[in-house]
Amino acid sequence: MMLEENISINWPIIGHRKIIKYLTKSIKSDSVAQSYLFYGPGNVGKNTVAHSFIKGLLCNDKTSRPCNNCLNCKKIENRNHPDISYLERSNESKNISIDEIRENVIHKHFLSSFSGSYKISIISGAENLSIGAANSLLKTLEEPKTKSIIILIANNADNLPKTIKSRCQMIEFNLVAQDDIKDFIKKTEPEIDHARLTNITYLSEGRPGLAWHYLHIPEFLKEREDCSNSLIKMLNSDINNRFSEITIITDGGSFQEGLNNTVKHIDNWLSVLRDVLLIKFNLKKHTINYFAHDKISNYSTAYSTKKIISMINKLVIIKDKTRQNINPRLMLENFFIDI
Ligand SMILES: [Zn+2]
Repeated sequence: MMLEENISINWPIIGHRKIIKYLTKSIKSDSVAQSYLFYGPGNVGKNTVAHSFIKGLLCNDKTSRPCNNCLNCKKIENRNHPDISYLERSNESKNISIDEIRENVIHKHFLSSFSGSYKISIISGAENLSIGAANSLLKTLEEPKTKSIIILIANNADNLPKTIKSRCQMIEFNLVAQDDIKDFIKKTEPEIDHARLTNITYLSEGRPGLAWHYLHIPEFLKEREDCSNSLIKMLNSDINNRFSEITIITDGGSFQEGLNNTVKHIDNWLSVLRDVLLIKFNLKKHTINYFAHDKISNYSTAYSTKKIISMINKLVIIKDKTRQNINPRLMLENFFIDI
């Protein structure tokens, strides 16, 4: 059924205007696809858009969607709408299994909708589908039932089989413009001072989800800053202190936690070194670690471009090897001896 053309559709989304325009138009004209793949960087708003999209579809209001007041809106908000299923990889599993796909998606799509409306499945982290799960899902995508929608969400579409992608309406998400992030921060925290506003804007790197976390969870912001600061601290230390710091970073309780903590630190160190280069080339507004600009500027004067690039290349290799479960401690010790 076509909706009235003048129905207002307001979604609380930061950026992604073209995508919202496209999806709202498909709701208004009753031309939604049966399967979508939302893909693009993490924390940019793919899940939030999916959430708004299904609310926009199922909301009962005739003039404004979502109304956030009707039974459907409330049930979607509370994640207990009987026609919507959510699936993502559990923390204990390596991937999404065939049984999980059968139970949470396929079986549910064979049942009739409770309200006579759409049956919808949202699969987050779709790049984690096992081969069996992907094949099983493919059969459902090839024989879609009317009023049935499957939304796959993935940070990296390259990891999904081509056969799945070819069945989906592909919707690519990109990083959000810095000005949109800034407006969002100002709206969330109107009294914010300039330094904090700039710091959170830069650190968010075009990802509204990160901005939200930095604003609402102080420890999250502190942890990010501490990770970046640890490189600056180590560059200023003697070899004994550097080695002690490496031990703390690589020894994370369990072996796996140590590896994860190391990768997290290296990611931040790479962002610091990238900033050193950018400041060297007068591209300060593209940097990430605003809170440490003064210290980073010192290195952009002290280090040659060649040295910075060499450090970046070495850290990228160490990060790759750490991801392959090679103990990073010795590699990091050598890295800091060489500087
Ligand atoms: Zn509603």
